[in-house]
Amino acid sequence: MKIYITVCWGARCLDWIQSGGKEFVMEWKMAPSAMALAAENVISELTQNGHEAFWVGGCIRDELLGRPVHDMDITTSALPEEVIAIFARSVPTGLAHGTVTVLQDGHGFEVTTYRTESGYVDHRRPDHVEFVSDVKEDLRRRDFTINAICCGLGGDLIDPFGGEKDLALRVIRCVGDAEERFDEDALRMLRCVRFASVLDFSIAKNTWRGLLRQRERLAHIAVERVRAELERIVEGPHPRRGLAMLARCELLARGKAPFPWTGTDLAAAAALTAGIGELESAHLRWALLLHALKQSAQEADELLRAWTFSGTTRTSVVQVLRVREAWTAALKAVPPGEPGGTDLLRRRWIAAVLSFGVEAAEGWLSLLAILPAAAHPAANPPADSKNSPAVSTSAVSEVSPAVNTSADSEVSPAVTVPAEWIAQMPLKRLSELAVTGNEVAEALEKRPGPWLGNMLNALLQATASGDLLNNKQVLLLEAKRMDGHEL
Ligand code: ATP
Ligand code: MG
Repeated sequence: MKIYITVCWGARCLDWIQSGGKEFVMEWKMAPSAMALAAENVISELTQNGHEAFWVGGCIRDELLGRPVHDMDITTSALPEEVIAIFARSVPTGLAHGTVTVLQDGHGFEVTTYRTESGYVDHRRPDHVEFVSDVKEDLRRRDFTINAICCGLGGDLIDPFGGEKDLALRVIRCVGDAEERFDEDALRMLRCVRFASVLDFSIAKNTWRGLLRQRERLAHIAVERVRAELERIVEGPHPRRGLAMLARCELLARGKAPFPWTGTDLAAAAALTAGIGELESAHLRWALLLHALKQSAQEADELLRAWTFSGTTRTSVVQVLRVREAWTAALKAVPPGEPGGTDLLRRRWIAAVLSFGVEAAEGWLSLLAILPAAAHPAANPPADSKNSPAVSTSAVSEVSPAVNTSADSEVSPAVTVPAEWIAQMPLKRLSELAVTGNEVAEALEKRPGPWLGNMLNALLQATASGDLLNNKQVLLLEAKRMDGHEL
């Protein structure tokens, strides 16, 4: 069986696998990528110096699946010092484990000496590695059959554990005994779920059984590693698949990071996250998940911090949940049908947009659009306003005749009305206000202090709501008027 790697990187090879693995010559569909050519030069150089060398692991798996290949790892019989001696530019990135990064034609390739591993006292990393001369021994230490395939310049696959067959069957299967492999390195359990989720594969029975038996071992894995795998599941193409598997195996509850949910909580959340895969934005996926898991903005903030998410992701997610809280409170506070109620709601919404940002406000509307209607805050009015959604069709036409409120409208007014309110805001942030803090302080002949922030926010709210023109003279006059009444 051959894979003509230098001509088919980037071409779709799935048909080939599904053809039952007959000898197959890949058509010249696409030029080889620059990365493939550079890797080919590295492999040629190693073989011309009398060593064996192959593409290995994820790059072969993804190429065979027709998925984009982002990096290429090379496995070789050459010892690390021999690799360093052959290439003009190399970095000893993991010498103890036999890894040298070779820089070739603007690309970096991890070139690793064939090795076996043993020990694994910490259930994550081997205590001993031994360099060996047989590539099949190297493939045996790898996690899953689909990651234990290698391929040389001639295009022949070396696949001692049936990885190619498992690709065709769309199954994740451990190399060797699953229970032992997960005991050695507990991170493999999450990699297993991640690959099944991202590739939309199933997990072989023995592998799943091994995972269930070893799930307590997740307590040995650093939170950062768990979080990185989770991100790939949630942000990948089939997040519901991974989340359902995680709910079934109850793996995360065994980890170091807080996981305050039962299987019932997770099942209930699954019903609310049906649309998660439709969300393009990663932080909106996390916001939806945390919303479905009934987390307050504050709780979500603490959880994301404990789970070592970046500050940027944490802030983006939490702001969306803060918008939810402000808006839910507004819907509860303003009884539907109250004279002027719609305008009051509009002002509360604008206040939320100004406090938490347009992006977060629109983010919350995106979540509302995919949440089942029964889960909308507006559909759960307080006891005194039963059967009367807060953002009613009449409220919509009162405020904005332009909004489509017909019965066959696909998106609920609970989403379109606040979206329209955002579109109508003449300005959306403090920096767009036609006066600065200094100008206000000078006009009032007062030293800047906490009063100034309050006043600017009041001016911003009034301007964004359409009560004041965003004009310097108008705003300074209003500032003076406000100053007369203490703020
Ligand atoms: P991706 O890069 O998409 O995460 P990958 O399979 O290339 O997938 P890497 O972490 O880049 O994953 O690892 C490269 C290869 O090293 C894998 O294909 C696998 O053969 C091996 N490998 C990686 N992590 C482990 C592990 N924890 N246990 C055993 N083998 C592993
Ligand atoms: Mg990789």
